[in-house]
Amino acid sequence: MATLVGDDGVISDRSEYDLTEHDPDTVIKSIVRAVGDVQGRAKEPIAAIGLGSPGNIDAATGTVRYSPNFGWHDVPLGARLRERFELPVFIGNDARCATLGEYTYGTGQGTTDFVLLTLGTGIGGGIVAGGTLLLGLQGGAGEIGHHQIRATDGFICNCGKTGCFEAQASGTGLIRHALSIAHSFPRSTLVSGKPEKLGSKSIRRAAEALDPHGLAAWNRYVDDLSRGLANVIAFVNPQLIALGGGVASAGQFMLEALRPRVDELTTMVPRGQTRLAIAALGNDAGAIGAATMARRGGLTASGG
Ligand SMILES: [Zn+2]
Repeated sequence: MATLVGDDGVISDRSEYDLTEHDPDTVIKSIVRAVGDVQGRAKEPIAAIGLGSPGNIDAATGTVRYSPNFGWHDVPLGARLRERFELPVFIGNDARCATLGEYTYGTGQGTTDFVLLTLGTGIGGGIVAGGTLLLGLQGGAGEIGHHQIRATDGFICNCGKTGCFEAQASGTGLIRHALSIAHSFPRSTLVSGKPEKLGSKSIRRAAEALDPHGLAAWNRYVDDLSRGLANVIAFVNPQLIALGGGVASAGQFMLEALRPRVDELTTMVPRGQTRLAIAALGNDAGAIGAATMARRGGLTASGG
């Protein structure tokens, strides 16, 4: 997907193509087409291209070092796009871009210490500390999804470890919780169809309707999510943690369940000081953040 984003962080145009294959040539061709569409319709010249990509990115060159989602190794994405468009091109990890977008134009406005967690298929995240987006030595800072919260009794994570925050507390984690306790609820209609058809939304709705199976799965999920959030508070002591992604559409129902449990698990940091909120920009946070990165000449959030 390509979007046109103004200096005010507002998206005024977009172009999207479905990806059926994930090899570099096909993906780059789709990006070129989508950017070309938006560029062709733009009323003013485009200043720069910013792109959020899954995986670990070399910020200096825009090379994707490693992307497990696409199976990529050392793909010179930045160089290929610069060659094609003759514009400055900046590439960052998609979750870090979303964090920069949400920090600059969403719920993070007015804070200096901020965390975004996107609860989707996995958990994407990013940390802003003292007004600066943390990147770490090689852009790996903020991989919050892969700290272990249940190393001995958790689900196996896509990264190979057991009980990662992502394995337990993503949307997929909620489904796993429901499936793992299904045997205790023989009369439950929640998993009446094929298990792979079960979605996180139906579990959350069942919990809201006080269905015993749905509620038990939801409570386990909230407990694991709270563990991770309390850890994040201990690491970063942020003013605000914003929750995005499909599961966060549960809104107040989720926040009300989380707050007391997170407080209970918060020990060495003053309790109740970190606000929890639902992220404001939804799926657009990544695109808006990528554009912000391009305008500023890098992902580091400080600056104008
Ligand atoms: Zn993991």
